[in-house]
Order: sequence, then structure tokens, then C-alpha cells
Amino acid sequence: MSDCLFCKIIAGEIPSDQVYQDEQVIVFKDINPSAPVHLLVVPRLHIDSLNDMDDTHSELISHMMLLLPKIAKEQGLTGGFRTILNTGTEGGQLVFHLHIHLLGGKQLPGF
Ligand code: AMP
Ligand code: ZN
Repeated sequence: MSDCLFCKIIAGEIPSDQVYQDEQVIVFKDINPSAPVHLLVVPRLHIDSLNDMDDTHSELISHMMLLLPKIAKEQGLTGGFRTILNTGTEGGQLVFHLHIHLLGGKQLPGF
């Protein structure tokens, strides 16, 4: 996936402002934040979107979901946070390397 932006960030070919990493994921600041805290939780494994996940990814998606409140706590988001996972073009997905947005740090508007 040499043309994938997030794969290049994971490889260190494009800089990012990382706040967490482990053997399965990296977490970095969104370059165009929509809230005081706006992070992207990104698996090291290239997966285009949620549409491309299957049972072999159960442990990975579980790890990502359970990581969210831990990262939120580290970021001081004691009042709550929002997670967004855009899937496909009509779902607003712009970067086709699966990622979960983590937003907080202010009262977020309703949908
Ligand atoms: P999505 O619409 O869910 O695919 O979200 C893609 C997100 O990636 C957007 O919120 C962008 O602001 C963010 N983004 C794009 N390029 C970069 C980058 N180089 N570093 C950090 N975030 C980025
Ligand atoms: Zn990728």
C-alpha cells in the first residue's frame, strides 16, 4: 500500500504528532482538528475500511475499541468523548486506511 497516506505515517515517511503506539496501532493528532482533542486511532495493518474487516480482525477491532477510553483518560477527557468511524465515500471517509476518530475537550454539538 505504498500510496496510502496512513501507511506512510506508520512507516515514518510522513511526520505525525503521535500520542500513543503499540504493536497493533498508532494514535496521532488529526492535522485538521474538529475539537480541542482530535486523535486518529489507526491500525498498523492496512485495511481499507470497516467494510473490509472480517472475523480475522476481531482481536484488532476489540483492541482499538478498548483503547479509546484509555487514550481519552490520558488526554484528560473526563467529561466524555466522541468516536467516529467513517466508512466509504458516502460515509464521509476520505482516507481509505481504517481509523477511528477520537474527539473531545469541549461540549460537542449533536448530530
Ligand atoms: P476520514 O474522513 O474519516 O477519512 O478522516 C480522515 C482524517 O485524516 C481527516 O480528519 C483529516 O484531517 C486527517 N488527515 C489527513 N491527512 C493527515 C495527516 N497527514 N496527518 C494527520 N491527519 C490527517
Ligand atoms: Zn494504509
